[in-house]
Amino acid sequence: VESLHESRIRRLDVVLAARRMAADAAWFAQRGWLLGTCGNLSCLLSREPFEILVTLSGRDKSSLTLEDFALVGRGCQPLSAGQPSSETLVHEVLYDRTPARAVYHVHTLANNLMSRLCFEQGQVTLQGVEMIKGLEGHSLTDTVRLPIVPNSEDSKALAEQIRQHLSPTVPGILVYQHGLYAWGRTPEDARRHTEVLEFLLEYALRLRQMGLED
Ligand SMILES: [Zn+2]
Repeated sequence: VESLHESRIRRLDVVLAARRMAADAAWFAQRGWLLGTCGNLSCLLSREPFEILVTLSGRDKSSLTLEDFALVGRGCQPLSAGQPSSETLVHEVLYDRTPARAVYHVHTLANNLMSRLCFEQGQVTLQGVEMIKGLEGHSLTDTVRLPIVPNSEDSKALAEQIRQHLSPTVPGILVYQHGLYAWGRTPEDARRHTEVLEFLLEYALRLRQMGLED
């Protein structure tokens, strides 16, 4: 397998997807959402045959380049050099079960704390906040029920939990004391959904801190 910057597999779709994800990751990193090389991002390049471009494991997300990504096929089969993120299996499930063409995953203080505070209920419930309109297909009167699943070191088990608890309407899912996965039909949608869900989680957290729980 060749590294992505070697010319034979230097493809325009790969270069453009990497550039887009690098920009979004830099923005998230600037907000402190990808500290300690955590998190991962991917784009779907082709559904059939299945092919995604995903961040390599352990890379600093604030300054990604083409060499920080890997091409991966069905069942995490490596199609280029490097160790893809250990959570690539989760991305695969999300591409199979949703209309997503981009999946972003961030670890933030707000999403970790909210997953803990609401774990018993199995979801975070959010309503009446203008930002809800930023989620595809949602209006201000909709109640958002963001599912929470248990965390696991076994990425296969985590992917299965996520597969079982996906919401049919909300483009995101929380992992207990771990992080948020958000997705969209385009990288722009995935970024917007990440931002909107993080805003809503921080809003809900601060409300609780003020003793004004919904
Ligand atoms: Zn993670």
